[in-house]
Amino acid sequence: MFKFNHNFLDRDSLSRTDPVAIKNRLASTKSKLILFNNRYQVLMQPDGLHLTNAKHLANIPDSKQWIYLGHSEFDPDEPWFCARVNDSEFELSHHQQWHDLRLSLPSITEPTASIVAYAKALLYWHSQHKHCGKCGAKAEVHMSGHERHCPACDHTMYPRTDPAIIIAVTYNEQLLLARQASWPKARYSVLAGFVEPGESFEHAAIREVKEESGLDIHFPKYFASQPWPFPCSIMIGFLAEAKHQNLALLDQELEHAVWVSPENIGSLLSNGELKLPTYGSISHALIEHWANTHQLNLSRWIDN
Ligand SMILES: [Zn+2]
Repeated sequence: MFKFNHNFLDRDSLSRTDPVAIKNRLASTKSKLILFNNRYQVLMQPDGLHLTNAKHLANIPDSKQWIYLGHSEFDPDEPWFCARVNDSEFELSHHQQWHDLRLSLPSITEPTASIVAYAKALLYWHSQHKHCGKCGAKAEVHMSGHERHCPACDHTMYPRTDPAIIIAVTYNEQLLLARQASWPKARYSVLAGFVEPGESFEHAAIREVKEESGLDIHFPKYFASQPWPFPCSIMIGFLAEAKHQNLALLDQELEHAVWVSPENIGSLLSNGELKLPTYGSISHALIEHWANTHQLNLSRWIDN
């Protein structure tokens, strides 16, 4: 239904403590290495993700630069790693190109897409936590890339993910869609926002809907979740029915919000007045779920 939910790796957390075993796995002919550049673009080839192997690298970089992601749950001898390289120092072969991960979503298939999302989120976390949050000293990479440790004050930092709610709000048969001014022309989506400290996911959803649209909603129902590595979130999806349909864009975050109906969504999509979020995102899946409950097949009007 959507991407990043089919991770087939055994994260093999017990092995992270053994630098010798990790070094041997990195050098294995079965290793799968995902490379990102310093702009978080992922290395692609014409038919999808470029997965390199230790034997194809001129020099295996220092194993401390690599994050051990785990091994295939189908083959314990197939270890997966990721690393960031400086693209000005990395020589591309004729069929390799760096690609924006978000734009490449349609061409990276599952289950690999889930592993790429996991890799991207970890690499981003490292780039944002080079120094200790307590004393400011330089923090070292530990546990094969799954921790950072401060040698000055003994503080350990663990990878973080930022929870954000995303919610399909309906009123009778209508679905609420909205857009921010910075989005591409005619792009609309369901509402979303970050969870604040001290909030449950459900109350974050109630608050965000009120702040962004002025709507009061009935208690939201959980739909599904999706890791979203742009840069390091997890989206927690909900469905909720509004108590009224009077829109008021209270916090000015949205440029426009509109109720769409099962009767008019087809024509809006056909004539280009409405463009939906990327296929593979939970936002697209929430809209598709609403369409399915009204026996509408969105693929009639959009090209996935
Ligand atoms: Zn410290």
